[in-house]
Amino acid sequence: MLTADETQRYDRQIIINGFGEAGQEKLKRASVVIAGSGGLGLPAAVYLVAAGVGKLRIIDHDKVELSNLNRQILHWDKDLGQKKVESAGEKLSQMNGNVTIEMVGETIDESNVVKLTDGFNVIIDAMDNMETRFLLNKAAIKHSTLFVHGAVYGLEGRAMTIIPGKTACLGCVYRGLPPKEKFPVLGTTPGLIGMIQATEAIKIITGIGELLTNRLLIYDGLKMKFSEVQVKRDSGCKFCGSF
Ligand SMILES: [Zn+2]
Repeated sequence: MLTADETQRYDRQIIINGFGEAGQEKLKRASVVIAGSGGLGLPAAVYLVAAGVGKLRIIDHDKVELSNLNRQILHWDKDLGQKKVESAGEKLSQMNGNVTIEMVGETIDESNVVKLTDGFNVIIDAMDNMETRFLLNKAAIKHSTLFVHGAVYGLEGRAMTIIPGKTACLGCVYRGLPPKEKFPVLGTTPGLIGMIQATEAIKIITGIGELLTNRLLIYDGLKMKFSEVQVKRDSGCKFCGSF
């Protein structure tokens, strides 16, 4: 049940067609884990907290650097040198007292990815490297948990939602690992993609709308165009082929 305050707080989304108080109650009971507390993870977190998701876990091992501040909008001048989970946790915990926020300052690797993502309704990929994205993809398939991918480069962004065993996974779409390098990013690009990821998470939880599955959404900020590439499951995929 929602409290009187919650009914008032979420009024404008409760009146969305198909959402209702039932949708808000689903959000209240739901948990989301965001891998990464940077350009993608922070806008996703802000909107999930504002929307009233029950529990949010954010995982990041990094410290705030000056070169992060053009895009990682919850890290401010005063936070330089602080752990990102502490900096982001401090602000997010003041946004909405109804949300349980759990900040985890660990590096995601093969040994902990399954444990760190266990028991959540949605996993959000807000990483900046393909190795960790593939680890999250594998963990999502293992847990049968819906997984929302997001990636950015300059003014280009991509997003896709994965229903393990049913729709194309990251391994069906991407082969191999790109070289690790410093890449360009305008802050608005992950801002936009992170919000698309949060929107997908809210749709997954509440059951409204159509998910971004078997379609890779591509945002081109330079031309200000959205397009999509149809993708399908690959029976030879090393992640989901035998699932
Ligand atoms: Zn696959």
